[in-house]
Amino acid sequence: MIPKKPILLHYFITTTCNCRCQFCDIWKQQERHQARLSDVLQNLTQAKRLGIRFVDFTGGEPLMHPHLPEMLLYAKRLGLMTTLTTNGLLYPERSKELVSLVDLLHISLDAADESDHNTLRNADCYHSALLSIDKALTLKQVPDILFTVNKANLKHVAPLVKLAQSLHIMLIINPVFPISASRLSNVDLDYLLSFANKPFVYINKAIIAFRKNGGNDNMQPRCRVGDAVIVISSKNTLLLPCFHHHVFAVALENDLLLKWNSKVIRNQRKKQGCFPFCKGCVISCYFDPSFLYTFDRLYFQNIFPKFKYAIDKYIRRHILNWMKGNPCSAATYVKRPDKLGKTYIKRPVTLKTNDRQTGKRLGKRI
Ligand code: SF4
Ligand code: SF4
Repeated sequence: MIPKKPILLHYFITTTCNCRCQFCDIWKQQERHQARLSDVLQNLTQAKRLGIRFVDFTGGEPLMHPHLPEMLLYAKRLGLMTTLTTNGLLYPERSKELVSLVDLLHISLDAADESDHNTLRNADCYHSALLSIDKALTLKQVPDILFTVNKANLKHVAPLVKLAQSLHIMLIINPVFPISASRLSNVDLDYLLSFANKPFVYINKAIIAFRKNGGNDNMQPRCRVGDAVIVISSKNTLLLPCFHHHVFAVALENDLLLKWNSKVIRNQRKKQGCFPFCKGCVISCYFDPSFLYTFDRLYFQNIFPKFKYAIDKYIRRHILNWMKGNPCSAATYVKRPDKLGKTYIKRPVTLKTNDRQTGKRLGKRI
């Protein structure tokens, strides 16, 4: 089953952000933009007609856009699957506006330790991320933890796996792509892979295999971003070939359908993965959908972890909740050295769902 149309709309609705992550370049941009609601609604309608099934509202921090709920609602009415990634700083106060509008909610957590997480993100956002997880669970919006791994936080893989397992939610292990971070070695990637089959862990094996083989070859590109993904900026421009290395920014003027199918854009899309800067590229958000467009080993290495994700999130979670009761609260997850040194353990409490917000200790010890 190879898609014939683009599958994903990658919508950068804002360039503003309340974090300053070490591995990200977006917050360094001088210009600040918010997408206009009317443009977003127009583009969503036309992107749906082009065949997309998923829309990823991103930024910057998407929760800094005041009209995000209207955008999500419109996308849902069009029958699209919505995904949202947040650093959690604004989620606790805006969560009620988003209930039942987000299909895949990713909350970024880069360490199981407050100081390491806040240092990586250059912001005081560790507790907000944990509170956001609890808040989402209270509202029956099961979030995923998005863990962007680089050299500096590799040691946090095991404790974050433990956290996700204790909460019965998914940990998405996402190796950072080297825009401004040091490249993970093959040994590091093998270490990540050793967690791939653990419960509540998602790691895209195709991305790991692809990285270990040196990434994209611009003479024989594996990148299919021009077929798979529509990338729109907050300035209402279509970005080609991709967000991080766009060489063309075409003003959309409410005509995405026409522009996408025009000869000029089709020719530009065909250059996907062929530019000099494409050599060795491993940008996972574009290769993940790209792997769906060619039947080979990477296709299967990309698909199978997605089945595992669905089984863990929608079946294993329910079985465990049914057998063991509500999982403990993320906000009670604390760092405690054990006898052997620096190990992280969770405080043994069980919270009733409707008491997560207060953080009160209730229920029996587990
Ligand atoms: S929260 Fe996201 S957009 Fe903001 S600086 Fe961090 S990685 Fe970049
Ligand atoms: S930079 Fe990467 S994602 Fe962008 S077109 Fe080149 S290979 Fe594809």
